[in-house]
Amino acid sequence: MYFLLKHKILFFSGTILKKVLKMRKLKNILKKLSYFINLNILKKYSPKIFYIETSLVCELKCPECATGSGLIKRKKGYMSIEKFKIIADKIRPYAENIGLIIWGEPMLNPDIIEIIQYASKFSKTVISTNCISLNYNLAEKLILSGINSIIVSVDATSQEVYEKYRRGGDLNKVLENLTLLQKLNTENGNRVNITPQFIVFEHNQHQMKEFSKICKYLGLKPNFKAPYIRENSELKNSNIKKYIRKKYLNIKDVKRAMSKCTAVKNMMTILLDGSVVRCCYDCNEDIIFGNIFNDDVLSIWENEKYKELREKLLSNKGDPFCIKNCLMYSLTFIKNL
Ligand code: SF4
Repeated sequence: MYFLLKHKILFFSGTILKKVLKMRKLKNILKKLSYFINLNILKKYSPKIFYIETSLVCELKCPECATGSGLIKRKKGYMSIEKFKIIADKIRPYAENIGLIIWGEPMLNPDIIEIIQYASKFSKTVISTNCISLNYNLAEKLILSGINSIIVSVDATSQEVYEKYRRGGDLNKVLENLTLLQKLNTENGNRVNITPQFIVFEHNQHQMKEFSKICKYLGLKPNFKAPYIRENSELKNSNIKKYIRKKYLNIKDVKRAMSKCTAVKNMMTILLDGSVVRCCYDCNEDIIFGNIFNDDVLSIWENEKYKELREKLLSNKGDPFCIKNCLMYSLTFIKNL
């Protein structure tokens, strides 16, 4: 009798235990499922691409750059790893791609490797660099940092042509460091996508072929890109149609083109002091939608002014600031406004 009773108790407690375990398993599955559902809902209506200004300092004086040309009136400096971590932890549920550059040279930031390592744990990461401040140690750390893409600004094959745009730079140093990056990348499994970039102007278009040859020799694919030329610039477009940015003849066409603006659809631009602005063209923080150090991603994204701008641009109504300052969608003669 005692034997039977013992077995019955054991049987029941075993069944209860199994049921509890099943329930727990189910609870865990439901918890995970709701996490992914919530995450996907959050992602669908939130920014996916984040541009973060990790540096507002550069050694060069490129005439079309807002930093190099002295257009930026904000306080210069670098973003510390401590500040970056605050931002990173807020954008983590939404970020699919993070550009660690807006204005300024990111590789001058003493914390840049730690910043890349932190961001690369949860998102794809990209930087664009002039490659001047690299040395073996820094280049090796960069390749091993977890970064996905490195864009290297070159734009020429001779010093004379190079410094017409990259003022204050040394082309030999750039090519030396590009070669070093590629060598280290090859030795470490070719994990990083390295793109040598050539912005095509009138003054350097004759060096495009030679640049392609250099890239081929290094085992890299060059990216030739049309420039954004500001009004009254001394620099001129090339005569290759493909590398001339489209300009619009009237306001109606510009407004229509602006409805394709990805900056307001799924991108968030975070400046050095945490201010969130529409895109890189608001380089002096004329209209701030919030500050990432004080607010969370969604409350900034849903800010009334931000929503209003999004609605205006997406419904072909345009926006005065954009019409005046945008280099992506601009009129042929801005002064005719
Ligand atoms: S300035 Fe240009 S790129 Fe920036 S938000 Fe306006 S339309 Fe978009």
